[in-house]
Amino acid sequence: MRGYAMLRIGESGWIDKERPECGPLDAIVKPLAIAICTSDIHTLWEGAIGDRHNMILGHEACGEVVEVGELVKDFKPGDRVLVPAITPDWSSLEAQAGYSMHSGGMLAGWKFSNFKDGVFGEVFHVNDADGNLAHLPEGMSVVDACMLSDMVPTGFHGVELADVEFGDVVLVVGIGPVGLMSVAGANLRGASRILAVGTRPKCIEVARGYGATDFISYKEGPIADQVLALTDGKGVDRVVIAGGNNDTFIEAVKAVKPGGRIGCVNYLGSGDYVRIPRVEWGVGMGHKQINGGLMPGGRLRMEKLGALVASGRLDVHPLATHIYHGWEEVEPALLCMREKRPDLIKPVVVLEE
Ligand code: NDP
Ligand code: ZN
Repeated sequence: MRGYAMLRIGESGWIDKERPECGPLDAIVKPLAIAICTSDIHTLWEGAIGDRHNMILGHEACGEVVEVGELVKDFKPGDRVLVPAITPDWSSLEAQAGYSMHSGGMLAGWKFSNFKDGVFGEVFHVNDADGNLAHLPEGMSVVDACMLSDMVPTGFHGVELADVEFGDVVLVVGIGPVGLMSVAGANLRGASRILAVGTRPKCIEVARGYGATDFISYKEGPIADQVLALTDGKGVDRVVIAGGNNDTFIEAVKAVKPGGRIGCVNYLGSGDYVRIPRVEWGVGMGHKQINGGLMPGGRLRMEKLGALVASGRLDVHPLATHIYHGWEEVEPALLCMREKRPDLIKPVVVLEE
């Protein structure tokens, strides 16, 4: 089978590989649509997870089941499915401890285009199909379904990690597709004010639609100074980090109140350390929590978030700004994501409607 792969750091192209085998609990799925992620860019061009050779890229897809193992109960060939980017081993001890995303080791729930081939191939392998796949909700488009692989669950996880509560003033750093979903999630959780950091006009427009009330440009001075100026020197209750760099923690710690929480879903692609400002961290005693996490995967979460979109309570249409058609468009879509054109939020490649 053919797939679009990372050949080595900085180099990608089409390759032929063996079709994956279906174990008794697994499924083989054909992608109907795939989306490109900023994480694919970090992986391929920054080598952020280390070198990988001839590994098929991609972890965001909506698909059709083509084969299931003999122990799979709830899915059969022909079923259209939501596919989470993170597919844990649900019987692992880590999953039993509540950290499914780390099943088998740190970040090991993230299997597609990390520990095995990803979804940019003619078919791909899904472990623990009953635990990880979800049926595509009636009437949902394959493009919207792709937003449920990673953007919705990751953006929302940032909100969960920051533990946003009714009435909170929330800072969301980064309003690419992940941060936009953090804005939407903070809004659904009842934030009273949402300060959003980003500069691309398209993202600002969409963030306003999702509930952002104030905008900050990281290009016009330190974020924390701008937050303090906008909040009469008080700072914010919660911070979600969905963009920026290793030094964004400095801004987040300075911007959050004592007792505040910082949820980070950013993928730090390079560097060895992150720094925390000593004084603003209460010289070690400020009760300013920093929680960084990979989003949880799995079927239950997919079903719930799918229902949120299917009910119309969360509209993901504004995210997919660039829609391509056909396998030959995978490479242009990837390059488009790398360039981050001003009007881009998310590129999606539709393979079959
Ligand atoms: P984008 O690149 O589309 O968006 C990044 C955002 O951060 C933009 O709004 C950008 O602003 C802003 N930004 C850039 N530089 C800075 C800076 N120095 N300070 C503050 N803000 C800045 O990314 P995505 O939304 O696609 O993804 C966000 C991150 O989440 C990525 O690192 C991605 O790899 C990661 N991720 C993590 C996952 C997880 O499970 N934890 C899963 C999926 C993604 P501007 O408008 O100027 O471009
Ligand atoms: Zn992704």
